[in-house]
Amino acid sequence: MNQLPSILEYPFASTPGPGETIEVAPGVHWLRMPLPMSLNHINLYLLEGDEGWTIVDTGIRGEETSKLWEQIFADKLADKPVDQIICTHMHPDHTGQAGFLSDYWHAPLLMSYGEYYQARVMSFMMQEGGSWHMSDFFIRAGVAMETLEAMRDSRSSFTPSADDKPLPKSYIRLSEGDRLNIGANEWQVIIGNGHSPEHVCLYCEKLRLFISGDQILPVITSNVSVHPTEPLANPLLGWLESHRKLMGLIPDDTLILPAHNEPFYGVKLRLQQLIDHHEERMQIVLDQCTTPRKAIELLPHLFNRKLEDHAIFMALGEGIAHIHCLQERGLVRKTRKGDHFLYETVT
Ligand SMILES: [Zn+2]
Repeated sequence: MNQLPSILEYPFASTPGPGETIEVAPGVHWLRMPLPMSLNHINLYLLEGDEGWTIVDTGIRGEETSKLWEQIFADKLADKPVDQIICTHMHPDHTGQAGFLSDYWHAPLLMSYGEYYQARVMSFMMQEGGSWHMSDFFIRAGVAMETLEAMRDSRSSFTPSADDKPLPKSYIRLSEGDRLNIGANEWQVIIGNGHSPEHVCLYCEKLRLFISGDQILPVITSNVSVHPTEPLANPLLGWLESHRKLMGLIPDDTLILPAHNEPFYGVKLRLQQLIDHHEERMQIVLDQCTTPRKAIELLPHLFNRKLEDHAIFMALGEGIAHIHCLQERGLVRKTRKGDHFLYETVT
C-alpha cells in the first residue's frame, strides 16, 4: 500500500489577480473573484471547448464581479462565446452571477436538481425574513432572545438587492455519472453532499484534474450545518460518506481545483484530515455532554473564537450537525426541558 504524502503540495507560486487567469492545464483556466467577507475570494474555472467556453461557478452578485467578468470576456476568451455555465452548488458566491452570465451569453445554466431548486427557494427565504420555525429552532438550542433579535437585524451580505439578476428560470440537470465533452476532454460529474444537498464536482481523468467546489477545500473547512428549514437533518453523515466515496475515486496524482484557497495535490491526505477534524469535534461533544447540555453551551468548546450574530447562526448549525451524527450513532440522546433541548452522552 502506498504511503500517503504527509503534506499538501501547492504547485502554483502565485494566484490570479482581478481580471487575470492562470492556465492550470491545457484549456483549463483558473480565475478569482472578490468576496466581501473574511474569506475574500472565490476560485472559478474556465474550460475551453471547440466552439465556446464553459464557466464553472460564477462569483457573488453585484457590479464589482460583473465588471470583472466583462473584462475577462474582452481580454481572455479569444473571440469564442461562453456556451454553458455550471454552478457546483447553490451558495450565493457560486450562483450570484449565473443570471447575469446566462442572460449576457444566452447560455444555459447546468446544475444538479437539488442545488437548482434549493437556490431558488433560498432567494425567496432571504426576502421573507424570519419565521417561528427559525426562532423555535434557535431557542431550543439555547439562544437568548436578545441574541436572536440581533441576528435577525444583521442583514447578510448575501441578501439580494432589486438590481441583482435572479437565477435563470430554466436549467439543464446534471446527475451523478454524467459525462460532459468539452474540447478534447471528458469531465465526469461526481456528486457529494453535506455542505449542500447535491454538490457537483467535475473529474477529468485524462488531465488528472478534479474541480471540487466547496466539497474539498485544502485550508479552511466547509460549513456543514443543520438549518431551521430542516431541523432534524443529518448533513454530517452525508459529508463523511461523500469523503469516503471520494477517497476511493480520485487518484492521489490528481490536481484538486477548489473554490477557495489554492489548487493542490494530496487529495487523500486532505480527505482524511477532514474526516479526522469532524471525528475530533464529535469527541469533544461526547466529552462535554457527560452532563446534559444545550447546543449553544458546546460552541466555546468547538470554536476557539468569539462568535457574533451571523457567525453564531453558522456555528450553531454546525454544532447541531455534530450532535445529530452522534444521535444517529446512538451515542447521544436528546431530551426536552422547558424551551430547550438537552443533549447527553449515552453511557
Ligand atoms: Zn458553499
